[in-house]
Amino acid sequence: MRCYSCGKLSFSVVCKACQETLFVPTLKTRKVGTLDVISFYRYETIEGLLLTKHKPEGWRIYRTLGKMVFTPFMREFAENDAGRVYVIGIDENVKSGYSHVAQLTRAAKAPECIPLHGVLRARNRVNYSGKSLQFRLKNPRYFVYTGEEGIDAILVDDIVTTGTTLQEAQKVLAAHRVNVLFALTLADVES
Ligand SMILES: [Zn+2]
Repeated sequence: MRCYSCGKLSFSVVCKACQETLFVPTLKTRKVGTLDVISFYRYETIEGLLLTKHKPEGWRIYRTLGKMVFTPFMREFAENDAGRVYVIGIDENVKSGYSHVAQLTRAAKAPECIPLHGVLRARNRVNYSGKSLQFRLKNPRYFVYTGEEGIDAILVDDIVTTGTTLQEAQKVLAAHRVNVLFALTLADVES
């Protein structure tokens, strides 16, 4: 296949050279309420890749992004943290034949870090893109959680903007005695 970024022949959808030069991750933590939100890129850096979200080739790109940053991060986390943790994606909604968030959740799998797929669903999928904080607060996602109760979990999403979605998810999960340790996102839009 060809590298999505430079167009050269490559084994991966983002070639090794581009991974090592253009897409070098920088870990950043932002506090949203009581939640630590970790991100790896500035939004502008990977915008072109993220915009493949609902295109047929997007699943491969999201899988690669997940492997580039979530997999190594979670392996290191698993080495340093004792005990079982679950990984929960924000609304693994299937669109164009795949869920882009599920690709990321899958990449966050590590020893004792187990993905729970499709357990946190949004009942409201109104588009937040370009919308104000006020609009987001007035139009919550209304999450429904159907996973295990009384567990420790890590939340996964592609981007963080205002953080209202992650906060809402944290609150819904807390009602099911799910303790969210932190959230993992690829990119922070407001950094
Ligand atoms: Zn390349």
